[in-house]
Amino acid sequence: MDTIVPLPLETGTLAFLLDQAKDFAIVHGLVICDTADQQQVASHVLLPSPIIRKRYIEAVEVAKDFNELYHKVANDYNFLRDALKSVLAVDSFTKGLWNIYETVRNEGIAQPINLGIVRSDYMVEYDHKDSQNNVENGVADVNGDVNDSNTRLRQVEYNTIATGAAGLSTQVAKLHRYLASEMELEVKLLENNPVSGTASGIVEAWQMYGNERAVVVFVIYSPNPQVYDRRWLEYAVYELNSRIKIISCTIHDMSEAVLTKDKKLFMKDREVGVVYFRSVGSPRHFTSNEVWETRLNIERSMAIKCPNINFQLSGTKKVQQELTKPGVVERYIKDPNAVQRIRATFAQQFNLEQNEEGDNALRLGIEKPEGFVLKPQREGGGNNFFGDDIKELLSKIKDSDERTQYVLMERIRPLVFKNYVVWEDKSVALCDMVSELGIYGVIMGTPDRIIMNTECGHLVRTKTLGTNEEKGRRFIDIDEIKQHVQLHLATMSENGFSLVSQS
Ligand code: ADP
Ligand code: MG
Repeated sequence: MDTIVPLPLETGTLAFLLDQAKDFAIVHGLVICDTADQQQVASHVLLPSPIIRKRYIEAVEVAKDFNELYHKVANDYNFLRDALKSVLAVDSFTKGLWNIYETVRNEGIAQPINLGIVRSDYMVEYDHKDSQNNVENGVADVNGDVNDSNTRLRQVEYNTIATGAAGLSTQVAKLHRYLASEMELEVKLLENNPVSGTASGIVEAWQMYGNERAVVVFVIYSPNPQVYDRRWLEYAVYELNSRIKIISCTIHDMSEAVLTKDKKLFMKDREVGVVYFRSVGSPRHFTSNEVWETRLNIERSMAIKCPNINFQLSGTKKVQQELTKPGVVERYIKDPNAVQRIRATFAQQFNLEQNEEGDNALRLGIEKPEGFVLKPQREGGGNNFFGDDIKELLSKIKDSDERTQYVLMERIRPLVFKNYVVWEDKSVALCDMVSELGIYGVIMGTPDRIIMNTECGHLVRTKTLGTNEEKGRRFIDIDEIKQHVQLHLATMSENGFSLVSQS
């Protein structure tokens, strides 16, 4: 696919842009933190990624529909229970979350309002069946012109907890605009400020809580290379309302929080109005029973959670697979155009339950693993299975109930383009890349009423060709990230996609 300037760049131009980018990135906080507490420029691509305009517009247009859908699904206890039944039988992590939901539901839910800071992730798929182009490594390698009609927007997943990168994405958009101006290019890059948009969700929730003295708690994990991305969110809240006090602490620190009889939550003697979870989306954050107890205590409280436990559960891969079944979206979304917008983005998904559908999916996965991605109920990258690993795993667990914790998803084959990757260690390489587009949003409401539903900017993440996913996003261990990270912040060029659609 065409990029905004012909590649490779002349050596002098490349050196000039890298130099300009380095200083701009540091000054604008496009940074991560390494184990030695040193700041490094976050890996990014040097130029905007070309994305087909029509598909981008579709992603924006469907954003609020998806938010409404997940809000409603999260508030349908029976649906969640039935959808997750086979997973709960074998996956202790999802079961642990479910137990919290059951417990607070039986005790009586103290806070009906949920705050969702969400991101719906997509790839733009190229229909390789109609072309002579190569399809390798799960992507369609297309040179030059791409016909819009051969492309489709495909949802990868919908994130309901700890959706990061809004801060860095906002900064990389500024960087690319600046570099385009340095190159004197006549390009119009899209405005992008997801960090402010998502921060406004926290501000609104704090106002809904209705106590000027209440604090917002960010539940974080540490050390975390993405500390500055989180700081961006914190500072964006401050910019919007400097009276809001934010306390950042780990889930372990939160064990000292006090829940009063009337279900108010106090941390360091301050009443907590909003709890924003940047952590606890993954089993590795639950290192002891005490952590589970702490998470339960928070859920019991009147504080507005971002997200509450049922909204978190609605984001499981299993729920996403169940939503693709005929008639399910229609149960929640009454506008037929919205239903159509949502359904148009679905890739095929199958459960692996011990029934006919599950048996068929199992056979498909074993016989044609290159056509699928196998997903467990986990968040944060690095957990999925691809290619022969699918075959191996499914062959091993085919007769066991263990298989029911996975879903099998059709593999999306995105378009390929070239770009320069600037790694954290400052090395640079011209690579074949594919992009994922995420659309941020805020959805806040009670089971019966939506209070806020917004679309508020995007994230483009780009990975080098041949990598199945960016394992580095696990954030456990920085050495591991350095070795595996295949995720580069990117942004989009309108010219990039205009060029594509006009050719
Ligand atoms: P996680 O919650 O771990 O982020 P995702 O569903 O987003 O899980 O998958 C992680 C990564 O795996 C994605 O960012 C994408 O690169 C790759 N991936 C996931 N689903 C597909 C798919 N259907 N086709 C191709 N790649 C996929
Ligand atoms: Mg993801």
